[in-house]
Amino acid sequence: MSEFNNEIWFVGAEMSPLVKAGGLGDVMGSLPKVLLKAGMNVRVVIPYYKNIISKNFIDIKRVYPAGQVNFGEIPFEFGIKTGFAMGDIPLVLIEQNHFFNREDVYGSHGGVCAYKDNLWRYAMLAHGTAYAMRALGIPLVVHTHDWSGGIVPAVIRQAFGDKKVYINGPAEGIFNGKLSRSASAKGLRPAIAFTIHNLGYQGVYGIDDFYDIGLDFRYNSSAAYEHFGTFNSLKGGIKLSDIVTTVSPTYADEITAPEFGFGLDGELKNLRDDGRLKGILNGIDLDYWNPAVDRFISYNLNLKAGRYSLKDYGEWEKFKFNNKKALFSQISLPLKTGKNGKVLPLIGVVSRLTEEKGINEFLDALFNWNDFPFQVAILGSGKDYIERKANYLSEIFKDKVFTQTGKYDEALSHKIYAAADIFVMPSKFEPCGLSQMIAMRYGCVIAAGDTGGLHDTVSDIMDSGVKNPSGILIKHTNPDGIAWALNELYNRYISDGAEWRNLVVNSADKHFGWDDSAKVYESLYYDIIK
Ligand code: ADP
Repeated sequence: MSEFNNEIWFVGAEMSPLVKAGGLGDVMGSLPKVLLKAGMNVRVVIPYYKNIISKNFIDIKRVYPAGQVNFGEIPFEFGIKTGFAMGDIPLVLIEQNHFFNREDVYGSHGGVCAYKDNLWRYAMLAHGTAYAMRALGIPLVVHTHDWSGGIVPAVIRQAFGDKKVYINGPAEGIFNGKLSRSASAKGLRPAIAFTIHNLGYQGVYGIDDFYDIGLDFRYNSSAAYEHFGTFNSLKGGIKLSDIVTTVSPTYADEITAPEFGFGLDGELKNLRDDGRLKGILNGIDLDYWNPAVDRFISYNLNLKAGRYSLKDYGEWEKFKFNNKKALFSQISLPLKTGKNGKVLPLIGVVSRLTEEKGINEFLDALFNWNDFPFQVAILGSGKDYIERKANYLSEIFKDKVFTQTGKYDEALSHKIYAAADIFVMPSKFEPCGLSQMIAMRYGCVIAAGDTGGLHDTVSDIMDSGVKNPSGILIKHTNPDGIAWALNELYNRYISDGAEWRNLVVNSADKHFGWDDSAKVYESLYYDIIK
């Protein structure tokens, strides 16, 4: 019988604002914070990417003796450091310089040029986590994320056994340290929750690689990581966890069908039918993404954070205009006006530039538009051909389009959210999407693909049943479909009537925080230790 601490450990590859490549970082940074605020004992485990981690946000308190793991014949030493992130989030850092002291999280260009040894790197995160549990005490729950956290469930099972912890007696309050006297924790290993942030990335490697990451041979089976003759980290993570979640209700449905299931739809459908797959909408950190206090932007919103209505439009207009002026002076774009003397609408893009995001088709839509009535600010990195196409667009439309590709730029992303009138996200699939939530918080009207979390968060102006539209949902995210949506929004913007004004304030009035979803996670953690 193991000794347990009444803790929940989040394990993942990113944690904003320490280190972030995409939405996973946002969630690892914000959900633990909300749970801690609710009084729960939470810890976050991430690799110590010494070179890129934002040291301002870490306070290291203790260094533990080194551990060791053999990958094939090769022994690797690693260290454990504990402390706090952002002042009060308990943190465990897995230190292994060969694997983690690099320029990027997954590889350059937003991970498109992935490091060849990523499987080894994230196997190291898993072994480091199990080792940290031995040093610090075993948590009741481990919540691991995405393919990079997919090896964690196997390592925990081989380290502590298959027998899951359960609370013998009333469990309520246990994560707040309030276990009733009559209750005790029984079992060997923590309960394991696994979240799929994006099924498009599964960590697929040759099956031979399996033997090099310190796993028992029994996990080389279709009941774990083997998938049609390959090693599939995400599949093993799903198979070996006690509950699986994904990041929006619509995506939870979509991934049980072949079109969005990326070969795992059968597994996921079974899981859903068993009640072990849940779609829980992500939130954003409303304190961090707050136009009233955001330090990255030049002009803060002069309204109290809260509900907005049409009477607030004037301030939102000022907010947009002043931030647009500041952004344009930084990126050397002239402010252009259209037919009726109104400043042209600014379209913003902050995105990984991969096929799934639909930015390639968005660029085609603009190329076909001869003299389009917009200005555009694109920040993104990813596939070389999309980056080049985006840069070419800004060469052709020098005074209308600004493009910055190839690197992550937190400060510029805030400036674009604050300045843009229309935020474009024509994704082909989108598990949840955080950029549209952030953009809405900054008063952007959204043009988005009608899929996954975009479907769940953008209220469509074309749907007569929708009361407070915040944008437009694009059914066909090809260049024509995207051009149609942009045209619809342009017409509303330029006529400057109540319809546009309503779109802006409705959008800003949607608050996608964590409160509701954090409660759902909390009850799910209780469910898996009962
Ligand atoms: P995904 O996780 O698929 O990349 P999300 O919309 O869930 O998409 O999250 C994207 C997050 O990454 C947002 O916070 C967005 O602002 C940020 N982001 C994406 N690309 C960049 C970039 N080049 N520079 C700064 N932030 C970026």
